[in-house]
Amino acid sequence: MTLVEHRIAGEKVAGPRTIDVENPATAEAVRQVGLADRAQVQRTIAAAQDALPAWRDTPAAKRAQVMFRFKMLLERDADAIVALLSEEHGKTLEDAMGELKRGIENVEYACGVPELLKGEYSHNAGPGIDTFSNHQPLGVVAGITPFNFPAMVPLWMFPMAIACGNAFILKPSEQTPSAAVKMADLLEEAGLPKGVFNVLHGDPEAVEALIEDPAVRALSFVGSTPVARKIYEGGANHGKRVQALGGAKNHAVVMPDADLENAANTLIGAAFGSAGERCMAISVAVCVGDDTADTLVQKVAEKASNLRVGPGTELGHDMGALVNASHRDKVAGYIDLGEQAGAELLLDGRKHPLVQESAGYYVGPTLFDRVTEDMSIYRDEIFGPVLCVVRVKNLDEAIALINRHQYGNGTCVFTSGGEAARRFTDRIEVGMVGVNVPLPVPVAFHSFGGWKDSLFGDLHAYGPDAVRFYTRRKAISYRWPESGSQEGSQMAFPSGS
Ligand code: NAD
Repeated sequence: MTLVEHRIAGEKVAGPRTIDVENPATAEAVRQVGLADRAQVQRTIAAAQDALPAWRDTPAAKRAQVMFRFKMLLERDADAIVALLSEEHGKTLEDAMGELKRGIENVEYACGVPELLKGEYSHNAGPGIDTFSNHQPLGVVAGITPFNFPAMVPLWMFPMAIACGNAFILKPSEQTPSAAVKMADLLEEAGLPKGVFNVLHGDPEAVEALIEDPAVRALSFVGSTPVARKIYEGGANHGKRVQALGGAKNHAVVMPDADLENAANTLIGAAFGSAGERCMAISVAVCVGDDTADTLVQKVAEKASNLRVGPGTELGHDMGALVNASHRDKVAGYIDLGEQAGAELLLDGRKHPLVQESAGYYVGPTLFDRVTEDMSIYRDEIFGPVLCVVRVKNLDEAIALINRHQYGNGTCVFTSGGEAARRFTDRIEVGMVGVNVPLPVPVAFHSFGGWKDSLFGDLHAYGPDAVRFYTRRKAISYRWPESGSQEGSQMAFPSGS
């Protein structure tokens, strides 16, 4: 069986411990991945440190040219990358292509790095003094990424980090490792010097070594909230800059004046697309008024029961399998809990025919009505194809409900009224908000980040915040006294007057 290896300074290196990488649609092992020990982490950090000085001193325009070529290579090999994403994750080919395209947008944004790194300049900031500030790279930085976007989430991080002059170590999810090595090979083909981008497969052992090593200046993390919190605290304790994006429970508020047919159509994609394994998936529909709820629930139930579930690698399916057996069991367990808690189960994904017929990790679309705030299916991130409907009386009740929730990643309101939209966008305590847009994932030239337990750190992912995250500012003041000028010492604090 093929072994997925690290890429350390361009060299293929096998990790000492191996685990299987499965195809979730069949539950078969398709390859193995070798996981790093501490010695391999240290070797990778050393390789990145070696590559750093020459890359840092390479003009930004030349670094951008590598990104231009990388973008074209990603597009050339898009079908091969998409096939890997679908095979290891379970998502449909169409969905995987969407992921890759959104990832490539970040490479395009990084191509503008000479403009983004331009500093500020003040002539005669003080008497005869010129001051300028610029952005300098941090050094060796690392990214730790989740299973659910094996191409896009790394692309949120490393194109801008590298374009800014850093050396990067990517620790992708060990469940979906192949897209990362494919991207490393394409970067090498694009002309990136060896050691500037490295891929290290691993589990908590490798992550802890990255957290503890003082040569790693910053950590970008995307994954579940407990691990995000651990990375944030561990990284900060070791003096690193950290951005750690965590889990989510995203609500869509449906107002009585919304176009309910449109709301139901878009909710289906937002709740069940990628089998709900998206941090921006809508997992709660908050319906304002019983009439709104009754109509919406009937439409969603009908449309969701018609979704075509099957192997993501085969065309013609709307939704694939969940990533692995334990995750499938976790999602099915939450459906048990919802039923026991008294929520009204209108569509039961545990009873989908594929659950019995296939060895793959399937749970069909699931719809609960009359869910209440105390239920674990409402409180916890399930990360599966389970949509909960909560009924409220008015918009303010919906806003208060969402604001009480632990997570604050994404949310949206369906309405045809500007007043409700404005009240919602003003008062909601969530980082990314849509009005009639159920998945308000910002484009690459804005930044991505939630509030509350969905993000630890100050700067969001990608976009302008990525330039701030992967650089530090230096302010430099120049003074060239005219020859022959005689100056006495000045004992008072320099004030410029
Ligand atoms: P995860 O937290 O289990 O793993 C993420 C990464 O951390 C992986 O690389 C994994 O190897 C590593 N890791 C896991 N446990 C660790 C530990 N104890 N110590 C150190 N490292 C550890 O997340 P996942 O299951 O791969 O991904 C799903 C989660 O990611 C969901 O909670 C989802 O909401 C979240 N997510 C968030 C965003 C966002 O932008 N906020 C985007 C995508 C996914």
